[in-house]
Amino acid sequence: AKKLPHSGYAFHSSELTTTTSEYFFYEKALRQGIENKELITYFQPQICLKANRVIGAEALVRWLHPEMGVVPPSKFIGISESTGLIIPLGREILAQACRHWQAWQKQGFELERISVNVSTIQLMHQDFVSSVAEVLAETGINPAVLELEVTESFLLQNEQQGIEVLYALKELGVALSMDDFGTGFSSLSYLKKLPLDQLKIDQSFVQSLPDDAEDLAIVEAIIAVGKAVGVEVIAEGVETELQAKFLHDKGCLLAQGFGFSRPLPPEEFLGWCRSFNQM
Ligand code: C2E
Ligand code: CA
Ligand code: CA
Ligand code: CA
Repeated sequence: AKKLPHSGYAFHSSELTTTTSEYFFYEKALRQGIENKELITYFQPQICLKANRVIGAEALVRWLHPEMGVVPPSKFIGISESTGLIIPLGREILAQACRHWQAWQKQGFELERISVNVSTIQLMHQDFVSSVAEVLAETGINPAVLELEVTESFLLQNEQQGIEVLYALKELGVALSMDDFGTGFSSLSYLKKLPLDQLKIDQSFVQSLPDDAEDLAIVEAIIAVGKAVGVEVIAEGVETELQAKFLHDKGCLLAQGFGFSRPLPPEEFLGWCRSFNQM
């Protein structure tokens, strides 16, 4: 894999096309962008398939650059990780998500939860747990409302430390979701060791449902694993009604995806949820 300048991190496959000069350009622009408050959290509704209601939302960051327009996270999350900018940026996203949850509550709409992505760099940073505690205290939201989405990659970096961080986060009262579940290299045995509340079926397994026999088997297996270890299962990347019906029938009662809604700017989110819940 291609290495970033002055860092040990390899680009993700989606970033393989980012050249070195582009990298420096983005790094400088991103620093500026964070200062100028150009990084905005969008929200994708999470649906309870049983009740056909919005029960939560995933916060997904967007960079609203004055000239470049909307820059997707695939263009800057990797760079923010390798430069350390993910630490202030991640904190800002967390705070924005909590503040929006609160604003919606004040308007009479109380989401059961708000999910925020946490990169492994953030999770393993020494101040992460205290920064989550600070944001909770600053915003005063019920910690049980906040769900942090982590990925298996922390297990490869420093499993013991990672497990301790997850337990410390549970002490704060927040919920934990394993994102992109099924795509990593870790063994399933960690499910016994980690204090997880949710498994998130990666969209790559959902895409070709219900036609692809292998994906079908994998999704059924994940749902069964979730049941076996007593952890909730949600599917991401649900694009069609057929997929939603299939997942519901197999016992996966939570879903998010373009089939319901794309990630929405915060000012559109509440209106969308209200009209969806009225249908
Ligand atoms: P992810 O956490 O797996 O997020 C799901 C991605 O799938 C999002 O892309 C979302 O917009 C997209 N998506 C949702 N529904 C569908 C669907 O039905 N079909 C398809 N094809 N895609 C769907 P997005 O927003 O571009 O984010 C990409 C990745 O960037 C995220 O993957 C996550 O790893 C990272 N990311 C996004 N926001 C943040 C953040 O605030 N913090 C951190 N650390 N990472 C973030
Ligand atoms: Ca996620
Ligand atoms: Ca995911
Ligand atoms: Ca993914």
